Amino acid sequence: MRTPSDPPLPSWTVGGITVHRIDETPLPPSTGPWLLPDATPQVVAGQDWLRPHFAGEDGILHLDSHSFAFAVDGLRVLVDTGIGNGKERANPAWHNLRTDFPERLAAAGFPPDSVDLVVLTHLHADHVGWNTRKADDEWVPMFPGARYLTARAEREFWASYDMEEARRQMFRDSVIPVERAGLLDLVDVPAEGARITPSLRLVPTPGHTPGHVAVELSSQGETALITGDCVHHPVQLAHPALGACVDIDPEQSATTRGEVLASLADTDTLLLGTHFAPPTAGHVVAHGDTYRLRPVPPT
Ligand SMILES: [Zn+2]
Repeated sequence: MRTPSDPPLPSWTVGGITVHRIDETPLPPSTGPWLLPDATPQVVAGQDWLRPHFAGEDGILHLDSHSFAFAVDGLRVLVDTGIGNGKERANPAWHNLRTDFPERLAAAGFPPDSVDLVVLTHLHADHVGWNTRKADDEWVPMFPGARYLTARAEREFWASYDMEEARRQMFRDSVIPVERAGLLDLVDVPAEGARITPSLRLVPTPGHTPGHVAVELSSQGETALITGDCVHHPVQLAHPALGACVDIDPEQSATTRGEVLASLADTDTLLLGTHFAPPTAGHVVAHGDTYRLRPVPPT
């Protein structure tokens, strides 16, 4: 449990909204070479601005798992739910975790029973894990008072996908219990985005998965964008075509990333990276033909 001497929980303000980062776990050093195989040590070495926060001197990428929580338009919202505890996973970095994520969520002022809305950027194992928790040997919704939202295109894609057993397991323990409880809402996300509340919009960002959405927050003239996995790591700002090994449509993923970064470049929009290591957030600035992240530390 946290004690009064712990450092303050990280958060950023976007107009009248306070966005909290809820840490789950740093991902192990083997994650970068697996996830972003083209981000070689040479590629990383060419971007000195990535060090020390986003990469080590050894060229290893720093990647984290965390969620974002905020209150907006009368709703208490969580964006993505990480890997989860006690889940049987093929990836050893995700297998049978025992983190204090629920305690961190509560410490930020979001005990599970208080959450109204859970936005799932896409249905991958490291974004849906805390959808559920184990109770009497059964996986039950972690946020029983919440509506869970994902894009209709995302759910329908996986419904007709020929899943390997590991992925079936993930749906069984983290998606289907929420559906069975009647808590999952499928949202149609047109090209112009889907407005959920006046300040909260889902932005279609397909490629990593077909129904992937980024999450835009706007308040009092200020804007932020939560990436989900349309950008995994700041090195992709310098190399927008650099994709993840798990992108369903690599070409579409690169196109989407290029469009998102171009739309953010040299604006005041705060980019909040779903897998970005601390300081996690920043502004996209043009640099030559591509971009860099100018970090914005938590307040
Ligand atoms: Zn991810």
